Amino acid sequence: MNTFSIAIHGGAGTLLKGQMSDEKEIAYKSALKSALDKGYEILLGHGHALDAVVEAVKILEDSPLFNAGRGSVFTATGNHEMDASIMEGFGLEAGAVSLISGIKNPIKLARDVMEKSGHVFLAGEGAKQFAKNLGYQTEEDAYFYDALRHSQWQEIKGSQHFQLDHQTQKDSKYGTVGAVACDTFGNLAAGTSTGGMTNKKWGRIGDSPMIGAGNYANNATCAVSCTGNGEFFIRGVVAYDVSCLMEYKGMTLAEATYEVIHHRILKLGGEGGLIAVDTNGNIAMPFNTEGMYRGFQKSNGDQMIAIYKE
Ligand code: ASP
Repeated sequence: MNTFSIAIHGGAGTLLKGQMSDEKEIAYKSALKSALDKGYEILLGHGHALDAVVEAVKILEDSPLFNAGRGSVFTATGNHEMDASIMEGFGLEAGAVSLISGIKNPIKLARDVMEKSGHVFLAGEGAKQFAKNLGYQTEEDAYFYDALRHSQWQEIKGSQHFQLDHQTQKDSKYGTVGAVACDTFGNLAAGTSTGGMTNKKWGRIGDSPMIGAGNYANNATCAVSCTGNGEFFIRGVVAYDVSCLMEYKGMTLAEATYEVIHHRILKLGGEGGLIAVDTNGNIAMPFNTEGMYRGFQKSNGDQMIAIYKE
């Protein structure tokens, strides 16, 4: 049987040991573990990588700890505009949504775009209309309200500043979320979901919903989910670049992900990290920031949940 595995992330950034309380650290780790367990259980039951990824991301979206779904950051106008994408490596099918509000699990909507819309990428009101047609219930603003996120926004509201959730040095909550998986059939999938940047305006969209930038999967190479400064990850076409380095240069997953995160994206000035898996179930989780909420579990028993640089 193929070695199967799953990896997840909850954002990369200024995560320094000692900065958050023990209780908070435990809360983050236990949220990561719940997501990991859910995804792994699906793989263990010979489920599909795509299902494992969606279910793991949904758990992270439902947690107010992460900047996705329920915990999404505030825009310049005090709203939430969420982005998500999904891709599977067998048929290279993909789906994405951007600038959506009121949807509890954007990753689920991204999957529905992939499977039911005849398109790849839907945004804004149109995406919401598509969700309505499928019978989605929308959540009230109160569901997405979080006092800490609100205070983060209040600090820079009205200014020209916009802020990556994980850039702040203060006691804050961090992170875009993502998952990648390789199932028992050797199929790969990747999913990414985010609220974007605090105080973002003008319909700003980051890398997370962009296939090839923040998310990519191809059974010939790897599945990748990114987190970091979206503008740089778009310009670096990061997720696809990892796949290209493997496909055209014959690099291993570890070599390709290291090259992209520690050389190419840094050269552009981009900070962040990614999680990636190949068809042998190998996992790589490089980041060039102080830390990244992350975890993985493999069928050979290897597993890890971590926040800081080891
Ligand atoms: N990449 C996301 C964005 O730029 C942010 C993040 O990873 O936290 O929207």
